[in-house]
Amino acid sequence: MPAVTVLGLEGSANKVGTGLVRDGQVLSNPRRTFVPAPGQGFLPGQTARHHQGCVLALLQEALQEAGLESADVDCVAYTKGPGMGAPLVTVAVVARTLAQLWNKPLLGVNHCVGHIEMGRLITGAQNPTVLYVSGGNTQVIAYSERRYRIFGETIDIAVGNCLDRFARVLKEVAHKMLASGECTPEDLCFSLQETLFAMLVEITERAMAHCGSQEALVVGGVGCNMRLQEMMQIMCAERGAKLFATDERFCIDNGAMIAQAGWEMFRTGQVTQLEDSWITQRYRTDEVEVTWRD
Ligand code: MG
Repeated sequence: MPAVTVLGLEGSANKVGTGLVRDGQVLSNPRRTFVPAPGQGFLPGQTARHHQGCVLALLQEALQEAGLESADVDCVAYTKGPGMGAPLVTVAVVARTLAQLWNKPLLGVNHCVGHIEMGRLITGAQNPTVLYVSGGNTQVIAYSERRYRIFGETIDIAVGNCLDRFARVLKEVAHKMLASGECTPEDLCFSLQETLFAMLVEITERAMAHCGSQEALVVGGVGCNMRLQEMMQIMCAERGAKLFATDERFCIDNGAMIAQAGWEMFRTGQVTQLEDSWITQRYRTDEVEVTWRD
C-alpha cells in the first residue's frame, strides 16, 4: 500500500497546531499557545483571533519541516469538537479552504479520540484504559466493540479548569483559614490537587478492574503533571499493570494527534463531505465509530 500522509489542524482551546503524520511517523508538529494576562482565563473571541493570526504561518512551518508540498498530503483532518466554538470555527474554515484549494478529502476528527490515538502511537500501548485529563475534559475511557466507552467523567468542570480557577478564586477571596495563618494558599492548592488526583486514580483503577486491563494511558494537558503520573504509577504497580504516558509535545493539544486519528479513520474509509464539515462544541468520545480497531 502506498504511504498515506495526513495533515492535522487543531484549535479547540488555547493551542493552535498543525501536524503532518505519515504511516505512524510524526513528520512535523508546530504549535502556538494563546497566553492571556496573568490571573485571567482565555475567552473564545480573543483565542480565535490569536489562532487566525498564526494558523497560516504554522501551516507553512509544518510543510517546510516535513519537507513536503501540498501535493504530498492525502487528507486534511481538523478538530470537529469538542471545544470552544469560535476557535473551532477558525480552524475548520482553514481546513475546508485547504481541502478545496488542494482538492483533497476532508475529515472531521473528535478531539478526545485524537488524544487517545496519539497516546497509543507514541507509547505503543495496545489496549489501554485511558485517563484523559485536561483543561476542558476529564474522562476515563476504555475500548469495547468499536467505541471508546466512557467509564467516568466530570460534567460540571474539567480537572485542569478546576485547578486553574481555584487558584484565581483564592486571589480574590481571603478565606478565614488563610487570614488566621492556619494554612497558606499553597497548602490549599496542594490539598485540592491531591484529592482530585486520588479520585481520578480510583476511578481509573475501577475501570481497569472492570475491563481486566493491564495497561493505563494518561493523556491530555494535565496528564503531563508528574504528581499525577506518580500516583498512577503506584496504582498500576500494585495491580501488576503498566503505565503509559507522553511528554508535553504530545500530551498537550497538538496538530499531529488530529492527523494520527485522521490517518486511522482515512485508511479505513472514513471521509467528511464538505456539507457535513461543521463543528460542534459538544462531541462525545463514544459517538465515534472506531472503524480501525477490532
Ligand atoms: Mg485536549
